[in-house]
Amino acid sequence: MKPIYSGKAKTIYEYDEDKVLIEFRDDITAGNGAKKDVKKGKGYLNALISSELFKILEESGVKTHFIKYIEPNKILAKKVEIIPIEVIVRNIAAGSLCKRYPFKEGQELKEPIVQFDYKNDEYGDPMINEDIAVNLDLATREELKEMREIALKVNDILKKYFDKKGIILVDFKIEIGRCKDGLVVADEISPDTMRLWDKETRDILDKDVFRKDLGDVIAKYKIVAGRLGIIKKEDNYV
Ligand code: UDP
Repeated sequence: MKPIYSGKAKTIYEYDEDKVLIEFRDDITAGNGAKKDVKKGKGYLNALISSELFKILEESGVKTHFIKYIEPNKILAKKVEIIPIEVIVRNIAAGSLCKRYPFKEGQELKEPIVQFDYKNDEYGDPMINEDIAVNLDLATREELKEMREIALKVNDILKKYFDKKGIILVDFKIEIGRCKDGLVVADEISPDTMRLWDKETRDILDKDVFRKDLGDVIAKYKIVAGRLGIIKKEDNYV
């Protein structure tokens, strides 16, 4: 199978006319590729965690591109046209929000913040509003309204789900695609694209461990998969 796209951590292959195979690689990057490494087992853990979260969303009535998990590090998904907007939802202030605005790191937000960033490396993924998105022909007003609704629904579902597993969903990013079924959640949902803190200790369990050199990032991703009950003790992919 020939790759149709290769990004910083995933390679996409055409499976057939309306499906793609998404391979999660062990590459890890931060700061728009400025910091790079390879972490054995990361592709496996992210494919596994993403698959579980897509299943949870589907069971709760959110449409996604997910079809099935293929061991160890791939998923079969519907082919979609990705809307080049990163939809970010925040429950607790962290990361760029605290750099740009007077929020304190770790501060609980009064209500979730939904943020649209334009996926464009050349311009440094700038935050945009509806008017900019419409004028750049990224999406229609109707789509943007639906994207916000989808993002908030995903947040409601995943926040409750992680809470039951002893994890705080601080913030996350999703990508949304167009397909025959309308708008669907696509790409990945993994500790690469979410901030996850232990509920008791506030220990960081996501890619910030790599971004900020806080230790063994794979050990943290394993904790997440363990809490979700999806990692098999006997598996030897990590
Ligand atoms: N995020 C992502 N990809 C990006 C930018 C952000 O997956 O290109 C995720 C990030 O992991 C975090 C959330 O979106 O869970 C909010 O990120 P933020 O805007 O704080 O950016 P950062 O501080 O990570 O640069």
